[in-house]
Amino acid sequence: MCIDHKMICKCGTHTASFNFRDDIMPAEVVNKLYCPNCSSDIAYNAGSMLRDNGWVIDFDMEVAQFMAHKLPGAPLTPDYLFDQGYCTWRGVYPMDHIDSVREREELVKLSKINPKQYLAEIRKWGTDRMDRLAGEGWRKANAGQ
Ligand SMILES: [Zn+2]
Repeated sequence: MCIDHKMICKCGTHTASFNFRDDIMPAEVVNKLYCPNCSSDIAYNAGSMLRDNGWVIDFDMEVAQFMAHKLPGAPLTPDYLFDQGYCTWRGVYPMDHIDSVREREELVKLSKINPKQYLAEIRKWGTDRMDRLAGEGWRKANAGQ
C-alpha cells in the first residue's frame, strides 16, 4: 500500500508528492526538501542526500536506520531509499501525478468518441512522455535505460 504525502520545499515555492513503499519509512525520513530554486546554495552531502534534476531530498538517515530492520537488507543509502521506492517521488518526478491527470484529460474525451484511437493515442502519449522526461534528466525516467 502506498500513501501520498505532499511536502513543501525549503523556500516554500514548490510542492512534491512522495510515495513510501509498503509504508516502511515514515514521512519523517525526509529531513528537508529542496527544489531547483533553493537547492543551489546548499552543501551537498551524498551520505544523506539524493539529487534528481535540480531537486534534492535530504534524508534523515537516523530515522531510516531505525526502520532498516524492515528492509530486505541492502546497504542503506539515499539512492537505495529512492530507487527501491521506500521514499521516492509519487510518479516519475515531484508533480507527476498532477500533470499526468491534466495531460490525460484531453485524451479521455477522445475515449468516448473513438475508443480505438484513444488506446493508440494513450500508448503513444505514455511513450512520448517517458522519452521527454528521460531527456529532461529525471532519474526514474532514465532508470533501466
Ligand atoms: Zn524551493
